[in-house]
Amino acid sequence: MTTETNITRMDAFTYRDLIKDGNVVMLIPVGAIEQHGAHMPLGVDALLSTKMAELTAEKMGGALVGPSIEFGYKSQQRSGGGAHIIGTFGFDADTMIGTVRTLVREFHRHGVHNLVFVNGHYENYQFIYEGVDLALRDLSGEPRIPQVMMMSYWDFVTPQVIETLYPEGFPGWDVEHGGVMETSIMLEFFPDLVHLEKLIDHPAAELPLYDILPAVPQLTPASGCLSSGKASTPEKGRILTDSIVEGMSAAIRGVFTA
Ligand code: ZN
Ligand code: MN
Repeated sequence: MTTETNITRMDAFTYRDLIKDGNVVMLIPVGAIEQHGAHMPLGVDALLSTKMAELTAEKMGGALVGPSIEFGYKSQQRSGGGAHIIGTFGFDADTMIGTVRTLVREFHRHGVHNLVFVNGHYENYQFIYEGVDLALRDLSGEPRIPQVMMMSYWDFVTPQVIETLYPEGFPGWDVEHGGVMETSIMLEFFPDLVHLEKLIDHPAAELPLYDILPAVPQLTPASGCLSSGKASTPEKGRILTDSIVEGMSAAIRGVFTA
């Protein structure tokens, strides 16, 4: 049995006891509710960011996982198929920024100062950054200013793993939406939520070098995915996860135990 890391499954007395020394590391997953083709559920980005955060906290020992921000910024055509596709919920930037800013301030009020935002939805990143920056501005002058790391989990997949898992060439993390990485990790941890028999196979989307609004629906493959998840296996999911958890835990330890 592994010990619980997610504070949303703990009582307040346990939570207060675990954070009382003020040096605990809190990982905060940030996802999205977004269409992921015919073969995967809307919650993929929220499920995977939370899973990667929990496994990293477990590996670190003593780190905790805060409440997930389940919704994400608007899906964009060149990285998530587009916000025009029904099934996708797109939150305005000020909502994302305000949510991140509030969480940093609330954890500060609880006495938690070492924070890590673990992003699982490509489009979120700069709004997480902005929320953190504004929160630190709010808290300037406080006796202890939080130290906040921000990362997207896929950036920790090593080049060796990419080379092994994408023998045909790596399409890039932006067009991985609904592709081999997300599908393989889902197969490893949430197999009941993946339906490979419904997967729509197609070549990686050829997207223009510009964005355009209103979105031009024909630019997104009919599947809603930007590359095919056909070559996905749970074994690949395990290899990707090991690489991610290893890299994230080492990076976080490097910052917060210095
Ligand atoms: Zn996704
Ligand atoms: Mn996404």
